[in-house]
Amino acid sequence: MSRATVIIVGGGVTGLSAAYHLARRRFGRVIVLDKGPVGDGSSSRAAGIITGLLWSEPGVLARKKALALYRELSEELDGYRFQDVGCLNLFDPLSWPERERLLPLYERLGAPFEILDAPEMRRRWPALHLPDDIIGLYDPLGGYSEPHEYIPALVQRLHQLGVEIREGVQVEGLLERGGRVYGVWTASGPIESDAVVCTVYAWTNVLLRSVGVQLPVKSFVHQRYVTRPLAAPVAIPAINANPYGGYIRPAHGGRLLAGMETADREEYRVSDAAFHMSALSAPAGIADEMHRRFSNLVPALATTTWESEKVGLLTFASDGEPILGPVSRLPGLFVGVAFHSGGFAYNPVTGMLLAEYVADGRTSIDVSAFSPDRFDPADVEAYLAKTVTQRDVVRRRH
Ligand SMILES: Cc1cc2nc3c(=O)[nH]c(=O)nc-3n(C[C@H](O)[C@H](O)[C@H](O)COP(=O)(O)OP(=O)(O)OC[C@H]3O[C@@H](n4cnc5c(N)ncnc54)[C@H](O)[C@@H]3O)c2cc1C
Repeated sequence: MSRATVIIVGGGVTGLSAAYHLARRRFGRVIVLDKGPVGDGSSSRAAGIITGLLWSEPGVLARKKALALYRELSEELDGYRFQDVGCLNLFDPLSWPERERLLPLYERLGAPFEILDAPEMRRRWPALHLPDDIIGLYDPLGGYSEPHEYIPALVQRLHQLGVEIREGVQVEGLLERGGRVYGVWTASGPIESDAVVCTVYAWTNVLLRSVGVQLPVKSFVHQRYVTRPLAAPVAIPAINANPYGGYIRPAHGGRLLAGMETADREEYRVSDAAFHMSALSAPAGIADEMHRRFSNLVPALATTTWESEKVGLLTFASDGEPILGPVSRLPGLFVGVAFHSGGFAYNPVTGMLLAEYVADGRTSIDVSAFSPDRFDPADVEAYLAKTVTQRDVVRRRH
């Protein structure tokens, strides 16, 4: 057994999952540091929707594994269950051809799907009201997780596995010597380690600037809402309702959860490690607009009102793909960040891949396309210098 120490900075689902996989492998001493309570970033605010039908070969392969791991975790974690209601991705005739081009990829990689027309969707889910020309790409393995069930269940398992979780510890920077990262510094002093895994999502460039690394990432405010309990639960899958600009799914206690993007909103710049997501707010009127829009799709929504709102950040890389792996110019440093609006969905496999990189130096799925080394420093600088709106980044939902 190795006696190495690994520090994971960021106790969202990505960092917790990396800790889980390292501990399962008995890698050594695993320490998770979070400046708040774990899950305090985007993870506790997520809608938790997952589909395996992504846009690239590594993405599809990684999600296939994530879906399998979610089912295993359902058996292993006390108090957590993956909700395997399927995931229905909706398209209008204009946006469908772009997605249709990916079907051979799904076939080749064994990611199951069905193409459904409006009558078939109405037959399967009578609670849906759909226009005749809408196209459904159904992922029978997709579904969702409730963050408020998943995160505590995973944390409980990490305690059993001997992971040290230190909450309220803000990492001020990384320790570097001779071109190697060998730990972190905090207000109460340095902590040395053999590897540092950076899973701080929207805070990525704030943390990495201490070692002169910057990544081309942009963050956007995003919000989702949960209704009061409906008179009777509504049987629908998790729906990526692209033509409606958002998503809707069943939620705990016979509720519905929905979220909508705000494409015209400018990026949100996190410039300080102390930034907290409670500083964010949803644009005025969006809750009403969402209620109106999604009541067209799920008429039962019109019979209730929103009970709660969560506002967080979505962090995208300039090419829309995750950034995951070792930073080769700084041995000892690993990152797992920028999962667009799909970081929750990815987390079981992201953690597995990060653990493989740290422990083995290679991964069981080829995710070299996600490498942090793929960006040219001059392009990164130019990308970070400009201000973009969400509309300007690649559209990636879950
Ligand atoms: C409203 C909303 C809905 C979403 N819906 C979905 C969805 O349906 N499906 C999906 O897959 N994804 C969804 N997402 C995206 C998803 O939430 C994120 O991609 C995912 O949670 C990222 O997890 P993470 O662990 O990488 O980051 P976070 O959960 O943000 O964790 C980062 C952690 O790092 C800590 N931290 C930061 N800086 C420091 C420091 N210097 N020292 C110590 N700790 C630090 C923070 O406190 C935080 O806990 C949604 C996001 C939002 C906001």
